[in-house]
Order: sequence, then structure tokens, then C-alpha cells
Amino acid sequence: MTDLAALLTVQELDNTAGALRHRLATLPERRALEEATASVAALGAELAGREAPQRELEREQRRLEGEAEVLRAKADSENRRLYSGAVTAIRELQAIQEEISSLQRRTAQLDEAVLELMLKIEPLVDSVAELRARLAAAEAAADAATVALAEAEVAVNAELQSTLAQRATAAADVPADALARYQAARPQLAPSTVVRLVGSRCEGCPLQMPSVEVDRIRHLESGLADCDECGRLVLH
Ligand SMILES: [Zn+2]
Repeated sequence: MTDLAALLTVQELDNTAGALRHRLATLPERRALEEATASVAALGAELAGREAPQRELEREQRRLEGEAEVLRAKADSENRRLYSGAVTAIRELQAIQEEISSLQRRTAQLDEAVLELMLKIEPLVDSVAELRARLAAAEAAADAATVALAEAEVAVNAELQSTLAQRATAAADVPADALARYQAARPQLAPSTVVRLVGSRCEGCPLQMPSVEVDRIRHLESGLADCDECGRLVLH
């Protein structure tokens, strides 16, 4: 392989590296991970929205239960006073009995209110549990997608590193000035910055070159001409 022909190898490897970088940037695994992450976020927000009313009702339930507890304790203490023998006046005993009845009525009302709250909370608990299960599954899927993306990236990166190493080896065979001309022209002319002269035609052009031009190119010492038509570097 001549020095200049190695430039075609460099170009081929540059094209391969470009394709691998594009593949890295557009891995389907990355899209899958983005979707899984979005799903986790959406379910998390939905869960927070459902947990809030459940917690609110549970707070209310605890408050009413606490209140009923206080009333029950008060009724117990009145009851003990009623039978303690310390109170003997009929009117006072009647008053205590009325107070106990009143406390029991209020306690029963509170118990009923607590029951109603529990009936409201029950379906919320079920729906929150169902949502938590869906969130856990989405989180597991996101974890799996993270692993899949990392594996895909490792595989493509390994291929890219190997391509870049081969490119460095090939580039070492190319004269420095030719490599510099190639690299300067590549941004405009990739993926075919360097082409061959085939017969009297530049590979980058549809038309044949005038024979005077072909002669001129063939006799250039550098072995690398600029095509007047397309601007590509022509190997001859
Ligand atoms: Zn050309």
C-alpha cells in the first residue's frame, strides 16, 4: 500500500467512526430509558396526588378517635363517681347520669363519623397500593433500561475505540501535508473527500475531465491533485 492510498483507508475509518458516533447518539436504548424515566415521574406525581387526600382523611380519623377516647374516659370517670357513694343527693346523681348519657351519645356520633371516614379511606388505600405497585414496576423497568443503555454504549464505544486505533495506524502512513489537506477539506466534502482518478474521470464528478487536465494531474509530483470541478482530492 502506497502512502497516499492509506489516505483512502483513513477516510473509510473516519466514515466508520462518524457512523458509530451517530449510532451512540441515537441508541434506541437511550429513548427507551427516557420513556421509562418519564413513566416513573408521571406515576410518582399521580401517587403523590392520591396519597394526599388519603393522609388528610386518616388525620381526621385519628382526630375523631382521640376525641371519642377523651369522652369515653370522662364517661368512665363519671360512672365511677356515680357508684362511689361519695355523691348521695338524688338531683346530683341524676345530673351525673344525664352527663354520662350525653357523653355516650356524643361518643356514638364520633364512632359513626369514624366509620364513615374508614369507608371513604378504604378504596383510596386500594388505589394507592395499586399505584405503588405500578410505580415499583416502572422503577424496575427504568433500572433495566439503564443497564441496557450502558451495555449498548460499552459495545459501540469498544467498536469506536478500535476504529480510532486503526485510523491512527493508517494515518501514520500518510504524508503529513496530504493528511493536513484531507482534514482541512473533510468538513465540506465528507464522506468522499479523497477520490481516485479512474481513467480520465474524477470519481467525485459525473463528467470526464479534459485530457489536458488529466495529463496535468497525472504528472503532479505529490500524487494528490485538487479536482477543479468538485474540489475533491484526487489520488492518481
Ligand atoms: Zn471531481
